[in-house]
Amino acid sequence: MTPSSEPIKAEGWVRTRRDSKNVSFIEISDGSCLKGLQAVLDRSRFSDKDLEDVTTGSSVVVEGCLVSSQGSSQSVELQAESLTVIGTCPQDYPLQKKKHTVEFLREKAYLRPRTNLFGAVTRVRNTMAYAVHSFFQENGFVYVNTPLISASDCEGAGAQFQVTTLDLENIPKGEDGKVDYSKDFFGKLANLTVSGQLEGETYALAMKDIYTFGPTFRAENSNTARHLAEFWMIEPEMAFCTLEGDMDIAERFLKYIFSAVLDKNAEDMEFFSRFVLAGVRETLEHVIESPFEHMTYTDAVKILERHNDRFEFPVRWGVEIQSEHERFLTEEIARRPVIVTDYPKDIKAFYMKMNDDGKTVRAMDVLAPRLGEIIGGSEREYRLDVLKERMKELGLDESAYWWYLDLRRYGSVPHSGFGLGFERAVQYVTGVANIRDVIPYPRYVKSCEY
Ligand code: ATP
Ligand code: MN
Repeated sequence: MTPSSEPIKAEGWVRTRRDSKNVSFIEISDGSCLKGLQAVLDRSRFSDKDLEDVTTGSSVVVEGCLVSSQGSSQSVELQAESLTVIGTCPQDYPLQKKKHTVEFLREKAYLRPRTNLFGAVTRVRNTMAYAVHSFFQENGFVYVNTPLISASDCEGAGAQFQVTTLDLENIPKGEDGKVDYSKDFFGKLANLTVSGQLEGETYALAMKDIYTFGPTFRAENSNTARHLAEFWMIEPEMAFCTLEGDMDIAERFLKYIFSAVLDKNAEDMEFFSRFVLAGVRETLEHVIESPFEHMTYTDAVKILERHNDRFEFPVRWGVEIQSEHERFLTEEIARRPVIVTDYPKDIKAFYMKMNDDGKTVRAMDVLAPRLGEIIGGSEREYRLDVLKERMKELGLDESAYWWYLDLRRYGSVPHSGFGLGFERAVQYVTGVANIRDVIPYPRYVKSCEY
């Protein structure tokens, strides 16, 4: 901001107030940036009575001119000509000027956006959401809204939340003693979606390149710093595209949204680097500049096996790569994001394209230092016979996926896609340790406040 002779109006909430004999300083925040605006009130013009209600948390409107500041911590300040307190704020306001823990703030989730930390997270999240759309729009992708209530179980990606209007005190049962879903709202069992992928595929096979960006629900019973029960997922799906194209888009996409934050939120990134995670900004710069590492699951396992003494869950070919292994690969071996490909078919979903070895599938996970998996994706099996065979092997009911199979009968084509957990990406960019602190109102096991 630069000084101006025209009066301006500042509307916001009082962060702090400091009084000296001749002047009072009020820091006003309106969420637009990290630093508040300092208003200076000449005590010859404003009485004690005028200032009586100017307490931390109160909302005010201050009018005056911006002048160069004599203080060292801001370039301009507001020389107040008028002051109106709109809403008073009593002493029990929870956000008094002192450092609060994130645990404390989680319990005050309706007020935490007024803190430096959550203000910064909110602005960065906003930049990233906008960048998600910009990236795909600039690259010719079409934004598609897939349903949130779904009757198809996407691969059993996670436990699902059931959607029902049945009276739980009096559930209708059939003669076999099972719940009679024909009496339910949709006439069948329905759930909240765990992924929009299957529906996304149908649109990719018409529009070529599409993406979704919407809420996703998983009844994850795990109490981790990386899992929510309700999170936002971005799922692009590309037709005429193999795994190589998929990985290329994933890398360019991540770098694009990271760069957007460095461009637009320099002050917030400085804050995260100083108060949340040392060096988080430099890490991001490094990630943007260097190509991601690529390795197959088989090679990753070879590396990890040599260090099995360090892991809680020892690794051998065929087992899931867990978060401790993902971190080891990215933090100790590659020192940057790693894309692991060609996982054993038995630990991946039915729709992933089978490799010629008959043992592995064209899957890819993007692993990031500190977090582990942030993207999961694959080339999809587009050959009807191979897909049917795979479903039979897994005991999946073909009739439940009839339309998904039809897609392989009517003009099938190689296609690929991935899912990025939006909150994981925000966590990565900001350095915030717990996923519960990068979404306004986190939902997780035994917690659905506000
Ligand atoms: P994880 O093994 O970490 O639980 P996943 O293999 O279940 O992940 P996918 O089904 O591939 O994940 O989902 C795609 C992406 O969605 C993941 O890479 C991750 O970024 C994100 N994601 C998955 N589950 C959650 C969750 N419960 N909360 C937040 N993000 C999630
Ligand atoms: Mn999971």
